[in-house]
Amino acid sequence: GGYAIGFQLTGTQIDAVLVDLMGEERCQLSRPVNHPDPMQAVDLLVAASHDIIAKSQLDPARNIGIGVAMPGPVGIAGPTGIAPGWEGFDLAGIMSEKAGCPVFVENDADAAAVSEKLYGTARELDNFVYIFIGHGLGAGLFLDGRIIHGAKGGAGEIGHIPIEANGRPCDCGRKGCLERYVSLLALYEEFDAAHRDDLINDQSLTHIAALSPDDGPVRNWINQAAPHLNTTLQIISSMLNPQAVILGGLLPDPILRALWKEVIRLQNTSGPTPTGDTLPILISDGNTYSAARGAAALPIYQE
Ligand code: BGC
Ligand code: ZN
Repeated sequence: GGYAIGFQLTGTQIDAVLVDLMGEERCQLSRPVNHPDPMQAVDLLVAASHDIIAKSQLDPARNIGIGVAMPGPVGIAGPTGIAPGWEGFDLAGIMSEKAGCPVFVENDADAAAVSEKLYGTARELDNFVYIFIGHGLGAGLFLDGRIIHGAKGGAGEIGHIPIEANGRPCDCGRKGCLERYVSLLALYEEFDAAHRDDLINDQSLTHIAALSPDDGPVRNWINQAAPHLNTTLQIISSMLNPQAVILGGLLPDPILRALWKEVIRLQNTSGPTPTGDTLPILISDGNTYSAARGAAALPIYQE
């Protein structure tokens, strides 16, 4: 039978999965990268797709397509704004020529939401928001049964909501963006310079995996991030009235769970939502490959 390949691209890593047309995972592959520019990224992704096919020992001719999940507002208009050079870059078009198969590109938070709907804790939900805590912060909006992209793919770009006047500078050019306080990079800010560099340059997230929620800097970060996240969930709840929000992304599970507990504690002191409910806050079922799995679903369901 046929199969599809899904990627999650971050500045420091490529994670790949190969799934059959029923969505069963057949193969995984993970490799470090160093903030590739767009053309480098295309070459790395095409090479990784050849490698995962070889690893799976499946027939290369049976590949029906590739999905790529990555940061930045990615909708119908193609990726913009991830970093200089990516603005307006037609990743799907250029990559599909080089790879010789259809290529679909999606925002990482949106792809993780798709994976959660197909395979995870959101299977029964038609309205949920996936909060993707990565190097930055994004949201996948799955509302009334489908992913909402907005005019230029920027719906759910919650990481760039300014929450602090004259706060920490953000890559987007603004100051005080939410993701400067709620993200892996924000967690790293709590460490002294030497340790912080190890974490930032960590290409396989092994340094962060070694951290515990009981470490002082991690605790400090959780205590700062949780109130911001709690406020964000209240805004999301008022704006979109989801059945649940799901927390996921790249944080190691024990840290994600500690953050989640603190957000729930704060929620319990904040009163009910406008519809009189308590918003269920769930933890993602997926692992580090969930955005890649959601991306792999794109060629399967768009064919
Ligand atoms: C980007 C989002 C992305 C998030 C998580 C943010 O910096 O703007 O598009 O979803 O990081 O990777
Ligand atoms: Zn920003």
